[in-house]
Parts: sequence; C-alpha cells; structure tokens
Amino acid sequence: MSDLRELYQEVILDHYKKPRNFHTLPDANRKLEGYNPLCGDKITVYLKVEDGVVKDISFQGSGCAISTASASMMTDSLKGKTVDQAETIFCGFHELVTGKNPQAAADLGKLAVFTGVREFPVRVKCATLAWHTFHAALEGEEKPVSTE
Ligand code: ZN
Repeated sequence: MSDLRELYQEVILDHYKKPRNFHTLPDANRKLEGYNPLCGDKITVYLKVEDGVVKDISFQGSGCAISTASASMMTDSLKGKTVDQAETIFCGFHELVTGKNPQAAADLGKLAVFTGVREFPVRVKCATLAWHTFHAALEGEEKPVSTE
C-alpha cells in the first residue's frame, strides 16, 4: 500500500472527505449507475442537460478515495460546460490517467492531480468510473456501466 500513499494527495483526500455535488438531482433528465467490481466502487451520476449545456450534475454512491474524489472533481469541472467542452475534458482526463497523453494535464487544471494514477493500472478504473458513467449517461445509455 505504500506506493499508493503518493496518490492520495491533499486535494484527493479533501474531495474524498467532503465530496462536492454529492446528492441526488430531483430535476435530472439523465441518471445512470456505474460499478467497478474490481474495487467495489458504486456510483450514480445525475445530469441535467439542456440546450447542449450541462446545467447541473451531481452524484451519489460509495467507493474508494480515488473514485469518490474523481467523481467529486468531475462534477466541479463539468457543471456549466457545453456538451462539447465536457466531451473534450472527458477525453483529456481519460488520456491522462491511462498514460496515453501525459500532456493532457496542461488543459485539465486541478484534475491534473490524477496524473499519478497511470502508474497503478488497477486504480485507473477507480479514477475513470464516474467519467465513463457520465459519458454513457450523456449518450443516453440506460444500462448500468461496468468497468469489467
Ligand atoms: Zn476504487
């Protein structure tokens, strides 16, 4: 577990202890569940998308520090963005944590704290769970997302 400690940076711990936008969204027009069986992370993402804009976004669920912090920071980053901007951030984040494009960090602001996740393949699924669930919800998917 000692190498994981480096991952649990201050920002991640803060979002884990005090997740932002951690509630249901009564007027959501998209809602989707996501599971990461490998770690036991479960999440429900709520979206209110209108006129091509992510007007509101929230989540609920339980999971490890990485999955919870990632979901919390995702909702912070995507709220108020256009669907196109949100897709771009989703792709950049995915490329960052999978190590496909470490340069992506430059455009991701605070989300760059997840850069170290690429060293831990098992944790990549924790970090991307909320994002895959968000993306599938945006595409109108109704079947729960599983990282397996
Ligand atoms: Zn996890």
